[in-house]
Amino acid sequence: MSVESSETILPLIYSSHIREQLTRFEELRNNRVIYVTELVSCSHKHRLRQLYPELTISFEPITVTGHLIHIGVEKYLVENGFQTEYPVKKTFEIDNVEYVLKGKVDAYHPEKRIIVEIKSSRNITNKPLEHHVEQLQIYLNLLNVETGILLYITPVVFREYRVERKDINLANLVKSTIRNENHPRWNWECNYCVFKEICSYRIEQTT
Ligand code: SF4
Repeated sequence: MSVESSETILPLIYSSHIREQLTRFEELRNNRVIYVTELVSCSHKHRLRQLYPELTISFEPITVTGHLIHIGVEKYLVENGFQTEYPVKKTFEIDNVEYVLKGKVDAYHPEKRIIVEIKSSRNITNKPLEHHVEQLQIYLNLLNVETGILLYITPVVFREYRVERKDINLANLVKSTIRNENHPRWNWECNYCVFKEICSYRIEQTT
């Protein structure tokens, strides 16, 4: 039996994965665009991705695996009437400047009026993570939908949580992100941040 190193399939996955990230480059430099994910994470990332968009490129196995899980689960959801990668957008005027809040819901069922967010991770606690619930709440508010599902896919467990909409002041969230008021937003965040080597606000993890 002969086993040799090969570079046949990985370059294909690499090209596709990197190409997808490069298509967002110009937009990443745009300070008038705010992403939904930025409303639930460190506000300084919003600033740094405008200055250093190249640092957001990743081909780490954990990132690629998460992407592949999304593609797989979304395929099942499409077969069951969901629209996947459903775009959402809302404009806000703050200090006389117009900003666009943008995001993509993993899956939305227009008749059943349900939003699904898919989360993949190495491990899981026994309750959904706070920033995932907040992100889902933002989507529920943007689409004026009452019910959302958080679906966790991990190597050891599957978990599904139902989240009911509560009213959120989206304008305040956008404002605090633009004004860079929460850096970091979570005490664990700097450890996983792609900007940690160049960030003056970086803190050491406390948990
Ligand atoms: S290192 Fe921490 S404070 Fe700096 S951008 Fe990243 S998460 Fe925010």
